[in-house]
Amino acid sequence: MELTAERDTKQAMLFSFKRTCPRCGKGHMFNGYLAVSPECSNCGLDLKHQRADDGPAYLTIVIVGHLLVPLFVPAYKAWDLHPAVMATVFSTLAVALSLILPPASKEL
Ligand SMILES: [Zn+2]
Repeated sequence: MELTAERDTKQAMLFSFKRTCPRCGKGHMFNGYLAVSPECSNCGLDLKHQRADDGPAYLTIVIVGHLLVPLFVPAYKAWDLHPAVMATVFSTLAVALSLILPPASKEL
């Protein structure tokens, strides 16, 4: 496959959210949780230039904050749940989203 060939952006983003190579969708993009592989194990695409620094952490904070904080008061008023249940549910959601989002946002 030619290195400079145009690729479908939606398909590349879908592959990236699946943590696979944005070009072929078969090779692994990460060595670990956030460590990017130097190259795709399937097609050899150079991935070592994927540097995001603190971007994924900031993006995760923004997304989690903007999703959960506006839902907290309406959820409390609508369902009248015990505060301990609210704290448990929203804490679990915050932790789950905070673990899921950084690898996905690193690929953006
Ligand atoms: Zn590949």
